[in-house]
Amino acid sequence: MPLADLLPPSFFAVLSVVWGLLWGSFATVAIVRIPEGRSVVRPGSSCDGCGVPIPPWKNIPVFAWLFLRGRASCCGAVIPWRVPVVEALGGALAYLSFVRATGTDQGLTAANLVLALVVFAGALTAIVLTFIDLDCMYLPDGGVVLLAILGAVCVWIKRTPWEDAALGGLVAFAVVYIPFIWGYEKLRGFPGMGLGDAKLLAAVGVWFGWQGATTCLVLAAVQGTMIALCTFMVAGRIDEPEAVVRERQELKELAASGDIEAQEALRQDPLADAPAAGLGSARVAFGPFICLAFLEWLFAEDFLVSWLLPA
Ligand SMILES: [Zn+2]
Repeated sequence: MPLADLLPPSFFAVLSVVWGLLWGSFATVAIVRIPEGRSVVRPGSSCDGCGVPIPPWKNIPVFAWLFLRGRASCCGAVIPWRVPVVEALGGALAYLSFVRATGTDQGLTAANLVLALVVFAGALTAIVLTFIDLDCMYLPDGGVVLLAILGAVCVWIKRTPWEDAALGGLVAFAVVYIPFIWGYEKLRGFPGMGLGDAKLLAAVGVWFGWQGATTCLVLAAVQGTMIALCTFMVAGRIDEPEAVVRERQELKELAASGDIEAQEALRQDPLADAPAAGLGSARVAFGPFICLAFLEWLFAEDFLVSWLLPA
């Protein structure tokens, strides 16, 4: 039964934006807590400055930040601009998911509404992974597995062949692992990309099959190179995230005290001895660019195909 007979489509469109804003707010919490190993559910939101719980009316996505002019009302701590940006992204991606899933022949049906929810969950997972990788240069396995599962659910709802998803995951993993991790390590003694990047592209392969995933890898590499070049030209250098620099310092102290695991971890780290100075030695998180390409392919595949492969 078409849901549009029950309620106007505009109702669902507005609902999708509100849904996205609320989950965007959840994403801002997840981005901070997951790398710290804390629960994303409990305790509820609290001020990063003083730890006071934030009441719901001071936690309204985007508006609270604008209204408080980016400062916590309890202690005046600065609330990073990233918070309203991620919340707004949540709203925008939920709306796009709704439009994309219900814009097909069947239109606004219950099945397409479920599809919109799954697509949005995948998009939001990509946002969370992006910011964690930017902050800490690692991709949590839990997030990557969640993305792959959501891709499988999508395949199941759309009834596309599951073989494409399985092959997509395998090929995507191999395309990163064989040349950039295994081969690179053989040649230079350390891997050129992280295992997390290979797993992330495998999840993308579940969503889009091997053709989609390899296209995403190319899109990610092109955009990553462009942005790294621009950053280098504007800023003169590419700084590693604070958390990474701090972690390496701790590893060095451990290694110096004879810790085998820490010594091995440092051996895997090409910048252990030479801090990023030139473009060639700058280490850039690649996960955010895979996520960016994933979002582009998720929402604009038709446009990209007609643009990249003009008939
Ligand atoms: Zn506070």
